[in-house]
Amino acid sequence: MISNILKIERECLGTVAEVLSQNCAAKKILYVTDSVVDELYGNSVRKQIESIGEIEKEFVVCNSISYSMKLAERIIASDIDCIVGMGGGKVLDVCKYASYISKKPMLSIPTTAANDGLVSPIAVLKQEDGRPKSLGCMIPAMILIDIDVIRKCPLELIKAGIGDTISNYMALIDWKLASERGKEQMNGYAYLMSQNALDVLMKTKFDSICPEFIDVLIKSLVLSGIAMDFTGNSRPVSGSEHLFSHALDYYSEKKNLHGIQVALGTVAVLKLIGHDYSEVLNYLRKFKVDINPQKLGIDKDTFIFCMQHATSMRKNRYTYLHEIRLEEGKLSVLYDQLVEELMEDKQ
Ligand SMILES: [Zn+2]
Repeated sequence: MISNILKIERECLGTVAEVLSQNCAAKKILYVTDSVVDELYGNSVRKQIESIGEIEKEFVVCNSISYSMKLAERIIASDIDCIVGMGGGKVLDVCKYASYISKKPMLSIPTTAANDGLVSPIAVLKQEDGRPKSLGCMIPAMILIDIDVIRKCPLELIKAGIGDTISNYMALIDWKLASERGKEQMNGYAYLMSQNALDVLMKTKFDSICPEFIDVLIKSLVLSGIAMDFTGNSRPVSGSEHLFSHALDYYSEKKNLHGIQVALGTVAVLKLIGHDYSEVLNYLRKFKVDINPQKLGIDKDTFIFCMQHATSMRKNRYTYLHEIRLEEGKLSVLYDQLVEELMEDKQ
């Protein structure tokens, strides 16, 4: 039986062998990563795996459902005992699902903190038509998060992680509405956990992206993941702002980071429903998380179209966008206001 191991520390990448040997009697280990991450940290991790067992390697080439299934097949067919996945969201989601299908434990080593998929029971993989699908799986049995590894990832990815946590703000407002309207079930524990994830980050005393702040951000992303584990889906951390982001992923030519899109969605929908958004906006400004749609390459037509089509992105998710009229004129004014308000000189 593998216990749930969660380590969030500075310089803990050197404890891979220790974590594996203490928690999983693996003889054959599949090391999964990509070439960029392997170049950075592979040497140390591969050596540690080799010190306790036989290693097989896989460099992830895509994040489709079929690729992840093939990986699971390889794990089963070649009697792999354990998977060590190291990298960003794509690598980890492929591993998470392969681990779930093959029923073999996974040690997850995230190298970025760009979203709350870090420790969630959900893998987002591509279907044959290229559309992403959220697949229920399990939180990895062992998770090792080295703060010093995360702080070396591109700053934009950390900012995206901030954005994804901030989106809990809107997600919880939507969830409350859905529950009041009798459209969705409320889970008090998951709600509390998601609120806690948000509070941990918003009330932090740190005002710059220092290692101590990254530690707080990671803990907050992990709490969001645990909130999802309570419900088995993304409801506690995903509302109208995520639906808007899904629409952008599907319809917009310009691709932006998930966390940035959902932060934009949060401010946009809060404005739309007449809710106070100053706390959220000031927080994003403090950490220079730029969500100006114009600067993100989202033109007015795309913005309007994606707002209007957001509710069609996911069935069984009720939000404020289902209740308000989304006329073109109103959304056009909203876009102009956002661009104006988020101009650089006001940041
Ligand atoms: Zn998200």
